[in-house]
Amino acid sequence: MLKKPRQFLDDLLNAHSPSGFEARCARVWLDYLQPIADEVLTDAYGNAFAVLNPKGSPVVMFEGHSDEIGLMVTYIDEEGYLWVSQIGGVDPKMLPGKRVILHTPEGPLNGVIGAMAPHMQDPKTREQSAKMTDIYIDIGAANKKEAVKLVTVGTPATIDHGPVALLGDTLAARSCDNKIGVWSAAEGLRRYKELKKGQACIIAAAHIQEEVGLVGAGMGAFRWNPDVALVVDVTNAVDYPDTDPKLRNKIKMGEGPALRIGPACHPVVMERLEKVAKTLKINLQRVPIPGRSGTNANAIYPARQGIPTGILSTPNRYMHSPSETINLKDLDQIPTLMARFAADLKKGEKFTVHRGGRK
Ligand SMILES: [Zn+2]
Repeated sequence: MLKKPRQFLDDLLNAHSPSGFEARCARVWLDYLQPIADEVLTDAYGNAFAVLNPKGSPVVMFEGHSDEIGLMVTYIDEEGYLWVSQIGGVDPKMLPGKRVILHTPEGPLNGVIGAMAPHMQDPKTREQSAKMTDIYIDIGAANKKEAVKLVTVGTPATIDHGPVALLGDTLAARSCDNKIGVWSAAEGLRRYKELKKGQACIIAAAHIQEEVGLVGAGMGAFRWNPDVALVVDVTNAVDYPDTDPKLRNKIKMGEGPALRIGPACHPVVMERLEKVAKTLKINLQRVPIPGRSGTNANAIYPARQGIPTGILSTPNRYMHSPSETINLKDLDQIPTLMARFAADLKKGEKFTVHRGGRK
């Protein structure tokens, strides 16, 4: 991966953006795209967009979601402990003992999630894992009076796990889901421009609030009504202990990006992505998702009269944990594929399914 896009990825991973509070991520993303795109803009709720070649055709959307899972303060007790609830799909058993950052109006504030010392647990609690109602944050406040000077009910928090390099091309961080998606949308636009041969208009989108119900993507799809959309999000790698390949195939980190197969994925878009991947010698792993895709595709493809959509993913170990792990080579191939996909489209090209159905 080139130095600048690699730094951009770290900057996105360091921009904490729990659902509903995506501005930090959007700012990093827009700063990167401002000198590249013809126009950058945001909407009422904080979706961020970059437009390249606005008069081009077809209109191609490259998208990822800018939000991540997190916590929100729900109650501050007399001792100054902050009780919290989850934003999105947080697994409470991963939380005790973690460091967190509270995102207060005055700036970031450090905290830790309380964890009962093993010596003080009775044999029964030692066997149990934490429930969400057991989770509280300790900011070191002496009491409620001191805590409320800095934190209010509604303050969001995220786990303080920035990006770290593991062996080879492996990277671990909180919020790879889905900083890799907004990264790919931006890089896809940049690489498309570099190819200097496409007719298409590119809309790169960093959509808000995916983790709480695919919200921003519906707004973006309505606004731009693209002819085709490529959604980028993580997919579960099935290559670590105790994972079972029978459900979703043996998806491995380091063996290339993954293409989702299922009702959300337009057959002609998928076919085209596979063809372009073959030309570029990119190995695409196949993830069968026979129901809902679990991505923004499910907000985009049913929008308007139906928007032909494809889903590309980096295999991801430990999804929704503080140490989401990906392979940088898998990731780097995604925007290359997106750019070439768009560049190969003919002016005015539409994706239609032959006589109303899949073969
Ligand atoms: Zn995601």
